[in-house]
Amino acid sequence: MNSMTSKKTRLPRMLRGSLVTLRRRCGKPGCHCAQGQQRHEAPALSYSDHGRTRVVMLAESDVEAVTAALERYRAAKRELEEQATTALAALTERIAAERANRRQAR
Ligand SMILES: [Zn+2]
Repeated sequence: MNSMTSKKTRLPRMLRGSLVTLRRRCGKPGCHCAQGQQRHEAPALSYSDHGRTRVVMLAESDVEAVTAALERYRAAKRELEEQATTALAALTERIAAERANRRQAR
C-alpha cells in the first residue's frame, strides 16, 4: 500500500443530492444474488448534474459523513433562501414607501 491509498479520504463538508439504497446483482456467478430475488444492497448518492441524474456508489463507512454533509447543505440552502426572502420583503417595502412619499409630495 502506498501513501496515497493509505490516506483516509476526507469527504466534503457539504453535498447536494440524496442518499439512496441500490439493490442489484453483483455479477459474481456463484453469489446468492445470481439466482433468486435477494440482491445486494449498497448505499449510493444520487445527484443531478446539468439535468442528468447521476449515482455514485458509497462505502458503508462514508454513509454517516455523507448524511451529515447533505444535511449541512440543506440547512445552508434554507438559511440562504430565508435571507433572500427577507431582503426581497425589505426591498418591496422600501419601494412602496418611496412611491407613497412621492405621491404625498405632489
Ligand atoms: Zn452477489
